[in-house]
Amino acid sequence: MSRRREEMLKELGLWPVWRLRAAAGETGTVCEDVSATEELTDHGAPAAAPGSRRELILRMEWPEIKARVALCTDCGLHARRKKTVFGVGDENADWLFIGEGPGADEDAQGEPFVGQAGKLLDNMLAAIRLKRGENVYIANITKCRPPGNRNPEPAEASACEPYLARQIELIRPKLVIALGKVAAQNLLAREASIASLRGKVHRYGDIPLIVTYHPAYLLRNLPDKAKAWEDLCFAVRTVKSL
Ligand code: SF4
Repeated sequence: MSRRREEMLKELGLWPVWRLRAAAGETGTVCEDVSATEELTDHGAPAAAPGSRRELILRMEWPEIKARVALCTDCGLHARRKKTVFGVGDENADWLFIGEGPGADEDAQGEPFVGQAGKLLDNMLAAIRLKRGENVYIANITKCRPPGNRNPEPAEASACEPYLARQIELIRPKLVIALGKVAAQNLLAREASIASLRGKVHRYGDIPLIVTYHPAYLLRNLPDKAKAWEDLCFAVRTVKSL
């Protein structure tokens, strides 16, 4: 392992508990000591009624959907936002990371996962040899900031859902990673704890989906970084098995 990677894992609080090794004949990273089990659970995206707002959005291409989101007033979150946070990254990415909603930094800059949580997410990506913008796309359940960093209300998440559904259709990622309980519950359309959802391959439509902790949560709960690392290793193995 390079010194830089070792330093990065130390910064993540993962070294020396977790180690990375290059498998014989491979240039990629292999995660060790991961005991998560795979279990398929399905969730299909809801159908769109003919002529509905949802159906209209689900037919949009990138330029239309970006323009519509920038001017969207379809739920109450538009009233106090500074900027919409559409999502960022490679529009043909294999990896799609989805959080809950923009925070203050994201609202000011119009980009998801900036600030300390964004820095941790970038480090998590680097730990599995990924990089923001390169084969990675990052988005949120809602594109406008819930005031005071509260969770999005069900009506707000529901109003914003068609945009994300269309982004997922257009990107066609190999894997979706739900970051945190709000993202997981909205994408899987069911109430469940993070603990019960981790370590399994769920489905968003026909796309595999894995659940892990939100980086902002990890900043407040450092011991759970090791569990997030297990989840990332599970995600790497899942993508490799596809
Ligand atoms: Fe529109 Fe979504 Fe913003 Fe609500 S959160 S105003 S639905 S873009």
